[in-house]
Amino acid sequence: MSEVINVADIFGEDVFNDSVMQERLPKKIYRDLKKTIEEGKELDLATADVIAHEMKEWAIEKGATHYTHWFQPLTGVTAEKHDSFISAPLESGKVLMSFSGKELIKGEPDASSFPSGGLRATFEARGYTAWDCTSPAFVRHDAAGATLCIPTAFCSYTGEALDQKTPLLRSMEAINEQSIRLLRLFGNTTSKKVVPSVGPEQEYFLVDGEKFFQRKDLIYTGRTLFGAMPPKGQELDDHYFGTIRQRIAGFMKDVNIELWKVGVSAKTQHNEVAPAQHELAPIYAQANVAVDHNHLVMQTLKRVACQHGMKCLLHEKPFAGVNGSGKHNNWSLTTDDGRNLLDPGKTPHENIQFLLVLTCILRAVDKHADLLRESAADPGNDHRLGANEAPPAIISIFLGEQLGDVMEQLIVTGEATHSIKGGRLDTGVRTLPDLAKDATDRNRTSPFAFTGNKFEFRMVGSRDSVAGPNVVLNTIVAEAFSEACDVLEAADDFGLAVHDLIKKYAAEHQRIIFNGNGYSDEWVKEAERRGLPNIRSMVEAIPALTTDKAIAMFEKFKVFTRAELESRAEIKYENYAKAINIEARTMIDMASKQFIPAVIKYTKSLADTVIAVKEAGADASVQAEALADVTKLLAETKKANVRLTELVDEAVAMEEGEKRARFYYFDVVPAMEALRAPVDKLEMIVDKEAWPMPSYGDLIFEV
Ligand code: ADP
Ligand code: MG
Repeated sequence: MSEVINVADIFGEDVFNDSVMQERLPKKIYRDLKKTIEEGKELDLATADVIAHEMKEWAIEKGATHYTHWFQPLTGVTAEKHDSFISAPLESGKVLMSFSGKELIKGEPDASSFPSGGLRATFEARGYTAWDCTSPAFVRHDAAGATLCIPTAFCSYTGEALDQKTPLLRSMEAINEQSIRLLRLFGNTTSKKVVPSVGPEQEYFLVDGEKFFQRKDLIYTGRTLFGAMPPKGQELDDHYFGTIRQRIAGFMKDVNIELWKVGVSAKTQHNEVAPAQHELAPIYAQANVAVDHNHLVMQTLKRVACQHGMKCLLHEKPFAGVNGSGKHNNWSLTTDDGRNLLDPGKTPHENIQFLLVLTCILRAVDKHADLLRESAADPGNDHRLGANEAPPAIISIFLGEQLGDVMEQLIVTGEATHSIKGGRLDTGVRTLPDLAKDATDRNRTSPFAFTGNKFEFRMVGSRDSVAGPNVVLNTIVAEAFSEACDVLEAADDFGLAVHDLIKKYAAEHQRIIFNGNGYSDEWVKEAERRGLPNIRSMVEAIPALTTDKAIAMFEKFKVFTRAELESRAEIKYENYAKAINIEARTMIDMASKQFIPAVIKYTKSLADTVIAVKEAGADASVQAEALADVTKLLAETKKANVRLTELVDEAVAMEEGEKRARFYYFDVVPAMEALRAPVDKLEMIVDKEAWPMPSYGDLIFEV
């Protein structure tokens, strides 16, 4: 019998959420805090003191001994430094538990070891964390006990953003302001705020913990750097949505419980395309909360996997030849009174506000396709994008039949007069209900697809924070809204002007619309003909951050300064170089200490066999042939290993920056592939007993 889980009871039990605040805070303090949360009013220290005190009391009741400012530096993962609540011992030798308003709203971790991309010299190490009261604090229970986690932004002494959250919050302000402008033009006087809603679907792999620790590549890099394909892969499509095995089901149950307790609305779970691959999707939330929650999802997946004797791989491409993992970023714009700006309604052709929003998005994505592509750039994602399993590296928009047709009408005749209807689905079985059909089918090959009342940006890597992509989305759409509002606010005849503008945007940016198969070679050619950028790698994507057009836009909407953008580009080049350097060195280590010695030993046993067979007077040519084959591949391995070592030495000696990152991509990566090839061939002909680590088959089919 399994235990009964009462989800409604446990949901949010470890979150300092609105109902806890209402219950615990004095009325006036609660109202002041709500004003800060909703309208950005500054919080005075006296109010912060009261909140901090109540938050501490609540956390201690939950067993908390420590608090931490939880932040998102540019390392890609979250950071935290724990402080206990104890104050200086009293004369009696006892301690009090204390937590002040100042400690709640501001922290000062030594920032010198976090990436700053030259924004500050090491001797100017000061950095500040500032409480983001729009994302609720929570108590986390783990081996460290219970810790009060306070979501914070992280800035330098001079106010430059050193994290993912600060620009995200800035971009949310930008899209809010421009969306409200747009709504006012359409006569909406009631909505006070517009927030981007985000629902990230998280893909991940699970492997057995013991096998994981037998692979240095998984330990150091999160992906396999060697490995021959097993006889069976994903060709049968029998894993996708397949019955969830018991070991995995037990894991999922615990993940859900942990997430629900900290207020993450884990909703959907299923097996994914690749063997050992799964997905978890929460219900969407406002962008900054969704980003924080996605970090919690990733951390919880990892922690709970360990508790179940497994390891969770969040890398975009843990296994070559097997589908990798991404994160679909569902995005829409919601008003405080519950309206979705991306909802087309039943007759989109008549919904002028929606058509303007839609064409503004077409314009934004077409104009800044390079930035959007960059926001999904990650060393791991280089293996996925354009490799026929994830969207191509070319940004395009899928609108589907209904909206595609409305756009077509607009472009061709300047007037949209009708919308294609969904109709009924007839299964041909009388006992099955007739289903209402969506007006549009899905297209999973598109990087940016309209899916009913939201856009789904499908390029994001599974490990990445979704902050970056949402900063870009919010800002580019804010810019397009702002340009449209400039025109429309100055127009004498609004009706005429908006009609003209929609027509103009639809015509100017129709090249970005593509409803066909994004995996096909024809699309690559067609996209080139249309002049759409096809940016294949991370190192080639990074320059998008610092173009004149990007700097002008980000500065205009106060999301990034030029210096912040330049520093981010620098950090990304370095992160890329470091990631590849670790991979290359891991390969050299594995080849030198594991594969080459194992194969040498194996050749000895083959040679002994040849001699023994000959001595017995039999024909040893088959055995001798095996020995020759293995020896040839061994020689190739040694040679490739030497070459890779030389290139890595050369790269390490280079100066940090773009040139070095490009060297890693264009020179080191191919040398890594050259080393992998003979080793994978050896794996297929060397005795399994002699092979020094678990194979792909062992890893993905025996979890
Ligand atoms: P799919 O069928 O595309 O895999 P899922 O149910 O796995 O869909 O995930 C869809 C995600 O999109 C969920 O996180 C969901 O909450 C989110 N979502 C739904 N509506 C919106 C919206 N209007 N804005 C943003 N996200 C949304
Ligand atoms: Mg899904």
